[in-house]
Amino acid sequence: MKKPEFSSMSTIERTLSIIKPDAVAKNVIGQIVSRFEQAGLKVVAARLTQLSRAEAERFYAVHSARPFFKDLVDFMISGPVFVQVLEGENAILKNRDLMGATDPKKAEKGTIRADFADSIDANAVHGSDAPETAAVEVAFFFPQIDVHGR
Ligand code: UDP
Repeated sequence: MKKPEFSSMSTIERTLSIIKPDAVAKNVIGQIVSRFEQAGLKVVAARLTQLSRAEAERFYAVHSARPFFKDLVDFMISGPVFVQVLEGENAILKNRDLMGATDPKKAEKGTIRADFADSIDANAVHGSDAPETAAVEVAFFFPQIDVHGR
């Protein structure tokens, strides 16, 4: 997603971030969380968890018709993931900028995916892409957390 040319005002937002099984296996949870923190995002909830097939299918239901769906689900359940709620100014877009493009080969230098991801399937991180998805995805993993931070 592109940054709008003019952002009318800053907003404190919450967004869901997942450090995917490839990055957890590489032992870089700390390095990735560090990038969020250095960019001014705050971790307000987090846990390491193992997704079941049913959970992964439900989480990625929007992609269920895509050819890569089964491989994506297989990958997401191949090991533990680190799920977090990040909070900060324009957190949704900021997180997406820090992540870089879906395909690490196309991701900008210095982004998480450029530095830690191996391929478009094993691409280190997930991040909500809009306020509506952030609300659904935060509630998916942290039903007790208010996405608006109230
Ligand atoms: N994905 C994949 N193959 C593709 C496109 C996507 O395996 O050709 C996976 C990849 O893990 C990606 C996820 O599906 O992160 C969701 O895709 P989306 O286009 O929403 O990318 P994202 O928002 O994660 O950058």
